[in-house]
Amino acid sequence: MGSQNTPRSLVVVTNREPYIDEKTGQTVRRLQTAGGVVSALDPLLQKIHGAWVAWGSGSADRQTAPHGMMMVPPHAPQYELHRVFLSPEEVNGYYNRYANQGLWPLSHMLIERTQFSREAFHIYRAVNLKFARRVAQIAPEHGAVFSHDYHLALFARLIREMRPDLASAHFWHIPWPPFAIFRLCPQHQEIVRGLLGADILGFQTPQDVDNFLTAVERGLKYPVSREDGVVVVGQRQVQVRAYPISVDITAIEHMVATPRIARWSRAIRHRAQKENVMLGISVDRADYTKGILQRLAALDKFFERYPQYRERVSFLQVVVPTRTEVREYRTLYQKVTEDSERINLKYSRNAWRPIIHVRRSLDRPRLMGLFRAADFAMVSSLFDGMNLVAKEFISAQVDNHGVLLLSETAGAANELEEAFNFNPLDAGNFAEQLHQALTTPLAERSRRIRVMREQIHRHTIYDWMNHIVSALEAVAKDYASR
Ligand code: UDP
Repeated sequence: MGSQNTPRSLVVVTNREPYIDEKTGQTVRRLQTAGGVVSALDPLLQKIHGAWVAWGSGSADRQTAPHGMMMVPPHAPQYELHRVFLSPEEVNGYYNRYANQGLWPLSHMLIERTQFSREAFHIYRAVNLKFARRVAQIAPEHGAVFSHDYHLALFARLIREMRPDLASAHFWHIPWPPFAIFRLCPQHQEIVRGLLGADILGFQTPQDVDNFLTAVERGLKYPVSREDGVVVVGQRQVQVRAYPISVDITAIEHMVATPRIARWSRAIRHRAQKENVMLGISVDRADYTKGILQRLAALDKFFERYPQYRERVSFLQVVVPTRTEVREYRTLYQKVTEDSERINLKYSRNAWRPIIHVRRSLDRPRLMGLFRAADFAMVSSLFDGMNLVAKEFISAQVDNHGVLLLSETAGAANELEEAFNFNPLDAGNFAEQLHQALTTPLAERSRRIRVMREQIHRHTIYDWMNHIVSALEAVAKDYASR
């Protein structure tokens, strides 16, 4: 890990907690939640004995932390996990409605799916305030705070009002839309002002930074220096930068090399080779931003236009149910199942099915093993902050044989230039690119994978974290010396 500028103290603030306690009957299970942020920041907090503040969303969370605090990790406690408990009304207004039915679709430029209401905003604000109050109570003097994402857009400003001694960074994980779209948010000024409470604001791509700075200039009329990525807010300067998030490629390489996973991966390849089938894969939450239906339409076109691939290509589609309290998500999930069945009915022959539909989440080692085995992966997001699956697929391709088909509108396309790009709304283009990818000689496919693997090695999740945390630490030192 080794940050050049390891902070003395740090409070991490996220919606999702790093350890969650779930109850089934009388049994309580403590799970570490998966995801890049947890895998990078949990070891750092363990090392410096920091604190993490998050919504206590597990069914046994209140039971295991009755006063809202517990030490983690469970077997070798190193830092404080503070759980913010929310009522069902708060969960609905803050999480389901304002964040997931408002800011999420708007930021992904899907305005027809976007719903805002003042009532939901009031709840959203009240919950952000709850988070800020908790952080204000526990953060040491002149400490640093690192908050995250669209659930907590108002947090940075609220904590600054309560604790001006704290240095703060906020990272926005999803896209930031052009101003013509963002201004549709009735609270757009409050949201931008809220974020500008931070000293450091991070986005995934230069395009997101640019769009955000336009929202500052046009929505708030604050002075902006684009060259330096600085916004002037009264006496303060806010640094606004692109910090593309990444993955722990070394850990993934080790994972796919362990005997168990290597064996599982080999077995999948052997089976595909025996059946003379090329194996494709996609892994997504069942979210409408992921272009799952568009990808199915493209696969339909592909098998229609290139019949020579019938019985020669099988596509393993892992779709994980998500946000099922929101109706649009349930409808989408149903449609994905129907379209997959329709394509299978249309093209299946003998024992062969074009689409193998897996409707549950897979554990990480198996997923990485599948990535290692696959001949190609398809990431078809309409818009996506980054898309970690794309980087994970490349990381797991230690035999350098597969190809990545990557939507040109996913954040990852900015960096992974050796992928085969396509427009997810153009099924014909998508099908052509797949054909092109599959007919590319192995030497060229290997070259592309190697280039992208080197790229990810040069910029891992730890580099992402270290860049932000070092910048934050510099601000904290500056505050302390005043
Ligand atoms: N993931 C997983 N098991 C699954 C499906 C997904 O562990 O069955 C992980 C996946 O490996 C990746 C993350 O969930 O790390 C999804 O991140 P991404 O940026 O691709 O999309 P998001 O879901 O955050 O929009």
